[in-house]
Amino acid sequence: KLFNELQELKGNIRVYCRVRPFLPGQGASNTVVEHIGEHGELVVLNPTKPGKDGLRKFRFNKVYSPASTQAEVFSDIKPLVRSVLDGYNVCIFAYGQTGSGKTYTMTGPDGASEEEWGVNYRALNDLFKISQSRKSNIAYEVGVQMVEIYNEQVRDLLSGILSTTQQNGLAVPDASMYPVTSTSDVLELMNIGLDNRVVSSTALNERSSRSHSIVTVHVRGKDLKTGSALYGNLHLVDLAGSERVDRSEVTGDRLKEAQHINKSLSALGDVIFSLASKNSHVPYRNSKLTQLLQSSLGGRAKTLMFVQLNPDVISYSESMSTLKFAERVS
Ligand code: ADP
Ligand code: MG
Repeated sequence: KLFNELQELKGNIRVYCRVRPFLPGQGASNTVVEHIGEHGELVVLNPTKPGKDGLRKFRFNKVYSPASTQAEVFSDIKPLVRSVLDGYNVCIFAYGQTGSGKTYTMTGPDGASEEEWGVNYRALNDLFKISQSRKSNIAYEVGVQMVEIYNEQVRDLLSGILSTTQQNGLAVPDASMYPVTSTSDVLELMNIGLDNRVVSSTALNERSSRSHSIVTVHVRGKDLKTGSALYGNLHLVDLAGSERVDRSEVTGDRLKEAQHINKSLSALGDVIFSLASKNSHVPYRNSKLTQLLQSSLGGRAKTLMFVQLNPDVISYSESMSTLKFAERVS
């Protein structure tokens, strides 16, 4: 009950932390994660300060251990996803440094089996299945858009290049939208989008970790008796890697990329922070990302942030900055 009241106070912002496992070939001994509690507690140990002084405690709405499965994660967020059918707008983000499991959570590993499907597949599949099976007078239509934001430019992943001047608040009006009527539609669309991201990532050297990708699911419902309509959308956002780049080491394009990423991630943090603090001014206009998602952040909209952690001691300082970002918005 207290938890629900807190949620109300915080304007529907939830933060879930997910700690990824060590990958095969990596030892499991060098973890910074000391403890994961059942009520969202996470205790991290500074590897350079072993002992009590090096412990730092965080608290989120939930913390997933490395053993948690894709199915487990999705079953927790299913009610949030389904609220789109009742006309809510929902944003789900994955935040963290490159290699921390953002894409794993949102999409799944390369060539994922159904069991390994990430949130995107599961959400899309669930929404279209439910919308077709609900015994009600409401007829639903489900459509999908997929874009990436790279250097503050928006690109349509389901077709060509988008003019960046023609965007306004509501999703991406000019990005191509495809209807979803079957599981194979879901798979096909997701794969086209992923392929389009991959093409650019080989060309531009891991560009995918330096762009934000956004899958938007639009759901329109029409009450067949009264003729009234409802509309909700779900944005699924795999954010660019949050790692800080050493300014003394990069120049040119790489520096520009880093500055764009930095700017848009802090703009996102500022927006969520102002929403959580109930500030009257919410600074949506400071980045393409927050502009694009404006109508789905704040108001009645619901936000979920997956904060991804690589538990390796080598990532300790990045993990701390990830956790501090998350703490600020939660
Ligand atoms: P990011 O998108 O943040 O750069 P990835 O999702 O690509 O990170 O994850 C890095 C690697 O770790 C990938 O090989 C991925 O399959 C693996 N991985 C991440 N999270 C998990 C997990 N929960 N279980 C198993 N493997 C994972
Ligand atoms: Mg990724």
